[in-house]
Amino acid sequence: MLAVTFQEPGRVAVEERPDPEPVAPDDAVVRVDASGICGSDLHIFHGRVQIEPGFTIGHEFVGTVVAAGDDVTQVSVGDRVLGTFHSACGHCFFCRKGLFQKCDEARVFGHGKALGSLQGTQAELALVPHANLTLRRVPEGLSNDVALFAGDVMGTGYHAIVNAGLQPGDTCAVIGLGPVGLCAVMSAAVAGAARVIAIDTVPERLEVARSLGAQPVHATEEDPRAAVKEATEGRGVDVAVDAVGNAAVVDLGVRLLRKAGTLSMVGVHAERAEVHMGLIWFKNITVAGGHANVMGHLDAVLSLMGAGRLDPTPLVTHHMKLSEAQDAYDAYASHQALKIVLSA
Ligand code: NAD
Ligand code: ZN
Repeated sequence: MLAVTFQEPGRVAVEERPDPEPVAPDDAVVRVDASGICGSDLHIFHGRVQIEPGFTIGHEFVGTVVAAGDDVTQVSVGDRVLGTFHSACGHCFFCRKGLFQKCDEARVFGHGKALGSLQGTQAELALVPHANLTLRRVPEGLSNDVALFAGDVMGTGYHAIVNAGLQPGDTCAVIGLGPVGLCAVMSAAVAGAARVIAIDTVPERLEVARSLGAQPVHATEEDPRAAVKEATEGRGVDVAVDAVGNAAVVDLGVRLLRKAGTLSMVGVHAERAEVHMGLIWFKNITVAGGHANVMGHLDAVLSLMGAGRLDPTPLVTHHMKLSEAQDAYDAYASHQALKIVLSA
């Protein structure tokens, strides 16, 4: 089978790999019909998150079950399924608490040895551990482009808002308007945010945020703090979302928040960073962050997408072939695309 592999910073390859087969009794193998390229893949592409050269990347996928072990009961061969970006066992301490993203056996697709040595899904076939939990039948009527968002990007945008405890009538600032930030913008609206201030530097992405009902603010050509002040009677927002993952964004988020507000960090942080603890302490800021609990949110997200209330369709800007992976990564890395969907 063909697979997109990481080679070195800035370079991916399309290589031949052996077809995977179920190993454990609750493994399945999925023929991947569509796989997205994510901001998390860009961290790998840029060498910020390090994985072994030759490892298959990708973790957003929709496909068809082609093989399943004897203990796979929730999906069957021939089913059209979507996957979550990681697997979980369903019975450890953390799974019993519903914190599936912190499962003791969690393995993230396409993130190398550090996150469980699970080959990625930008390939013709993918091995799926704990398939009863990691896969879900695609509900009737959902296209591949939409279903693809459930197990990662929309689940993460939704998590950013729900995990921050956003209440109807709240104001929210979303910093970073890639697919994740834009899904957070949509989720904030669905959760009842009165106003959403959407911050980035890419004009096309600011425009998409505007079309979703948010107030776009250019991060450098405008003054996000002034815009937030004006929108909140000088108080600051109730919830600020870091959908980027760097110290400057954390710092901006803390400054945009009202006293006792919540900073929701879904952007990936991978290194030490300097933040002003005095501000976080003095303002009584709650910091919520980390991997999103996409398994925990799957029912809500699928139901909202099925009803059209969360609709990621406008975020899919490109459909490309696995063989065009290098061009796809280059286009996404240079912000010429939002969600690129790869297929064989
Ligand atoms: P993306 O790369 O498409 O988008 C990032 C956006 O941030 C870009 O539009 C960029 O212009 C903007 N940006 C960068 N620096 C900025 C700044 N200083 N101020 C304002 N905007 C800035 O990525 P994405 O796919 O939307 O993902 C966003 C983040 O979420 C990534 O870090 C990704 O790894 C992470 N992520 C986390 C989870 C999770 O489980 N927590 C899941 C999926 C993705
Ligand atoms: Zn992703």
